[in-house]
Amino acid sequence: MAYNRPMMNRQLTDRFGRTIDYVRLSVTDRCDLRCFYCMPKGFRDFEEPEHWLRFDEIERVIAAFGRLGTRRIRITGGEPLVRKNLPDLSRRLAALPGIEDLSLSTNATRLARHAAELHASGIRRINVSLDTLRPERFKAITGGKLNKVLDGLMAAKHAGFSPIKINMVAMKGVNDDEIDSMVDFCIEHGFTLRFIETMPVGDTGREASDHYLDLQTVKQSLSERYELLPGVMPGGGPARYVQVAGTDLRIGFITPISQHFCETCNRVRLSVDGTLYMCLGQDHKFELRPLLRAGISDAELEQAIVEAIGLKPERHEFNEKPQQIVRFMSHTGG
Ligand code: SAM
Ligand code: SF4
Repeated sequence: MAYNRPMMNRQLTDRFGRTIDYVRLSVTDRCDLRCFYCMPKGFRDFEEPEHWLRFDEIERVIAAFGRLGTRRIRITGGEPLVRKNLPDLSRRLAALPGIEDLSLSTNATRLARHAAELHASGIRRINVSLDTLRPERFKAITGGKLNKVLDGLMAAKHAGFSPIKINMVAMKGVNDDEIDSMVDFCIEHGFTLRFIETMPVGDTGREASDHYLDLQTVKQSLSERYELLPGVMPGGGPARYVQVAGTDLRIGFITPISQHFCETCNRVRLSVDGTLYMCLGQDHKFELRPLLRAGISDAELEQAIVEAIGLKPERHEFNEKPQQIVRFMSHTGG
């Protein structure tokens, strides 16, 4: 493994030859929404605050990843803006050697208040979950208010985030009649649009899989309405992009079920309690918090991360074992 290489060339490589250079950092498992495919209504079984990694602990772990070749960090949750003083953390992470790309996934309910400060803290790219443009439907899917999200999106635009990507979980019988209106909305505002297939993560995700929509069919019907050109986007994520000819719109398809992308997986997830999850669709994990609180050195922390990467499984088994993952997406950090 890469642990003993000289500093400049160090990188994390797993058993399958994949370079791991991207960390999804969950700063909370809490959320002010309850998207039905993610977290059950009334759910309150959250991590105890004393188990949350503190900002200094997060900074230590991300600094270690940075020394091991990680370049990209995405802050996520739960809803990351529920965590107090998030811009203080993002400022600290943006300043770490090696970290070149700091991004955020949010539901945007609190973005109107925080967009400018988050941008100033060093976050440049932002993904916003938005499954519908209809207030009543938004309420039914998430339990929240659409206008807060729209206000947050406009504040993000004003603050200068670029790109702003809209993540729409496309679901049969729930919002599949809004695909065209979401395309028009994103063209109007200069947002990138990404469709996501529902994943059987937790009971909520499994129930939502009744509404599973194969994105290959969405792509097919879009190609009947628009000329779609091959496109690429910065970010290092799993989406496959097309560009809509004659517009600036790029559309990404995230297809973990119909066409998995595990062979190019470059990421691990750090949950709020300091557990490294190796795969969204498997249980392989490594707990860093007990080691951090036992006072391990930076070298030992790097060694622990190298060991953890050695646990990364080859692929998820959402299709073969849909019952497998009991934790919710909001717990792992989506
Ligand atoms: N709260 C933030 C948000 O909603 O963007 C960040 C965390 S959320 C868990 C990250 C992403 O996971 C969102 O785009 C959400 O739509 C997606 N997600 C949650 N549960 C899912 C599921 N069962 N299948 C597919 N995507 C899911
Ligand atoms: Fe909250 Fe995001 Fe999960 Fe929706 S998808 S419940 S906004 S964490």
